[in-house]
Amino acid sequence: MLISMAEILKDARKGKYGVAAPNVLNLETVQAVFEAARELKAPVIIDHAGMENIEIISKITKFYEKKYPEVVVTLNLDHGGEYEEIIQAIRSGFTSVMIDRSTLPYDENVAEVKEIVKIAHAVGVSVEAELGHVGVGYEYEETRDAGLTKPDEAVRYVKETGIDCLAVAIGTSHGTYKGTPHLDFELLKELSEIIDIPLVLHGGSGTGDENLKKAVELGIQKINLFTDLSNAGVIDLVEYVTKDISKEKHIKELGEFGIKSISLPEAFKEGVKGYKRALMHYMQLFNSAGKA
Ligand SMILES: [Zn+2]
Repeated sequence: MLISMAEILKDARKGKYGVAAPNVLNLETVQAVFEAARELKAPVIIDHAGMENIEIISKITKFYEKKYPEVVVTLNLDHGGEYEEIIQAIRSGFTSVMIDRSTLPYDENVAEVKEIVKIAHAVGVSVEAELGHVGVGYEYEETRDAGLTKPDEAVRYVKETGIDCLAVAIGTSHGTYKGTPHLDFELLKELSEIIDIPLVLHGGSGTGDENLKKAVELGIQKINLFTDLSNAGVIDLVEYVTKDISKEKHIKELGEFGIKSISLPEAFKEGVKGYKRALMHYMQLFNSAGKA
């Protein structure tokens, strides 16, 4: 069942659990997300970033939605940039869009987000936006403090834009952290007390299980994940392509020229196993298993 992000996160807020939001890139990752969600009976938010594959990701998601109607899922455009990109996602059947104007001055951020909210809500699509700024891991130590969300401004922002969920900056970062992540839990606590819509945490990867668990307990309902899932997949993939086939039991895998034969479809399959396993770990950590 493909539903809006507002609906999925409303239940998560009420039930005090977090919903994993894995970034997907292709057929294999969308399939892995559906299988993980189905096996754990966990609601899930599919995040997809970038304009190029909007149409195809939407089609693949709809295919699996039909195949597994019991899976409760949202299809969300992650970090929507260009106006055209956001409109294309809405037109292609995304049930939620993020508009990221977090690097703009406050007033411009509000004006641009408000316009998208008006369009998206007219067709039942939810909107996520970011206030404060979650930066990138390699410059974490220099940028972490400057981007933190300001509570008073956040309350005003939610009211003025009409968004459905708010991405907050509480000390996480995108990609791989340079240095140790330190989250401002006092700030999160305050934000979750004064803001009455669901809160989103970008940069879940590398943040650590304890930190993420605590963030969910203190009021985060959506956790964006990519790097950890991707890394877990790469580890499985490397293991597959480098496994020692010189031992007798693998001899049948040697091709007619006596060299190792690696199947590309098999390699994809092996890699995505790690992606799926890491996702299932997070679904359980966020306490969303059994909630769909
Ligand atoms: Zn992000």
